[in-house]
Amino acid sequence: MTHPAAPKASHFINGAYVENTAGTAIPVIYAATGEEIATVHAATPEIVEEALASAKAAQKAWAKMTGTERGRILRRAADIMRERNHELSVLETYDTGKPLQETLVADATSGADALEYFGGLAASLTGEHIPLGEDWVYTVREPLGLCVGIGAWNYPTQIACWKAAPALACGNAMVFKPSETTTLCALKVAEILHEAGLPAGVFNVVQGMGEVGGALVADPRVDKVSLTGSVPTGKKVYAAAAADMKHVTMELGGKSPLVIFDDADIENAVGGAINGNFYSSGQVCSNGTRVFVQKGIKEKFLARLAERTKGAVLGDPQDEAVNFGPMVSERQMEIVLGYIEKGKAEGARLICGGERVDRPGYFIAPTVFADVTDDMVIAREEIFGPVMSVLDFETEEEVIERANATEFGLSAGVFTRDFTRAHRVIGALEAGSCFINSYNDAPVEAPFGGVKASGVGRENSKEAIKHFSQVKSVYVRMGDVEAAF
Ligand code: NDP
Repeated sequence: MTHPAAPKASHFINGAYVENTAGTAIPVIYAATGEEIATVHAATPEIVEEALASAKAAQKAWAKMTGTERGRILRRAADIMRERNHELSVLETYDTGKPLQETLVADATSGADALEYFGGLAASLTGEHIPLGEDWVYTVREPLGLCVGIGAWNYPTQIACWKAAPALACGNAMVFKPSETTTLCALKVAEILHEAGLPAGVFNVVQGMGEVGGALVADPRVDKVSLTGSVPTGKKVYAAAAADMKHVTMELGGKSPLVIFDDADIENAVGGAINGNFYSSGQVCSNGTRVFVQKGIKEKFLARLAERTKGAVLGDPQDEAVNFGPMVSERQMEIVLGYIEKGKAEGARLICGGERVDRPGYFIAPTVFADVTDDMVIAREEIFGPVMSVLDFETEEEVIERANATEFGLSAGVFTRDFTRAHRVIGALEAGSCFINSYNDAPVEAPFGGVKASGVGRENSKEAIKHFSQVKSVYVRMGDVEAAF
């Protein structure tokens, strides 16, 4: 790849780019054209060993630095990411196909927010003093040790930063494996962290398919695994991690409900549904893909939705005027087209879209189905593409019960002008990341993660610190020890 921001080799280990062409070649395909723009190589067992050994060796000295020192490096990395936002966004667009209009504001910027936020927290990670008469207990917040991060393909920079920033702030080292579909951006995160002064070995990136992830998860030196991926992969990785009682964070899929009541501001509700279904061409885990609309406003809602969907500008994602990009890969496009065919066959009413766009690349038109019922496949399974299902409802009790009737529990949203109802309904919905009169905001200050099959643990916010550290308690006796004999 000739782009100036392109990473220099497949892996980043012990503070430097590393190549090893013995590993399986993984093509980097630009989703907007289908062209191969680069090649990386999967990690061989030797590369995996090098990465794990260098992280293991570096972790103790990193943990011994003060939180202020660790935090300074993370914050410096945040500044570098912001300075290079444009070139990193161009690279993110090549990696994923997402429009530059989005990547300029949602990827390196979100990664920088995480580095800045956790860099700021690093110095304040303290324990407690618990007085017990003359004696006392003190607690120490310790790092877990060697962490593995495994990423999905939709937000390669953001996912790497959301995992690395809290892990490193707490004094852990990390080996990160990006998805084989988007291999480039995590390497830039490693490069920038080292430019900011991160000691060699503290953050490493290795490429590969599921088996490389599997080898990392199974290694007995690893203390924690943080995965962003699908529920089936999450179940496998969680089970493998359990064998050694490793800590886990699982950020998995969803089929989240977005509930729109009759009294909602219709333009805001339509905007929320668009953000929650068509941003990143629908490839967002927390999307509100089951849009429950109360019967009184259903047709008005659908008419405005169809109208506003015409505002989608498809084209070369590197053109900043384009606001709707392709699916990340041909495979993902085929999966999504398969679901669209199922929706048609099941009798859902197609309002707009419903087909591949006749141009190079893996574009699918923004698709809305109405009259969707709870039993249809498109209402039950995660599609991970630009396919919105609109379902009708009549009462609050009914919609709560139907919204919760799923194995997933990542997100939920409510649009209504009645604030009492908004809080009551959100309180009853089984989901980890919720929205009132909004959808899909993910600031670093707010915890992010799911309940039920959608995940374990939380990313972002102070909650993430709990998932990358453990508490040691120390009882201190001031007097004599009383013993039975
Ligand atoms: P996958 O679950 O297929 O893969 C996720 C990652 O796990 C990839 O890096 C994959 O490698 C790796 N992997 C696969 N099998 C194993 C294994 N046995 N052991 C260790 N690692 C393994 O997800 P996708 O990449 O297809 O991403 C889409 C999914 O991710 C969607 O279902 C979506 O809901 C979910 N997601 C969840 C988010 C959240 O925060 N909750 C955010 C974004 C996405 P490889 O792909 O190279 O085989």
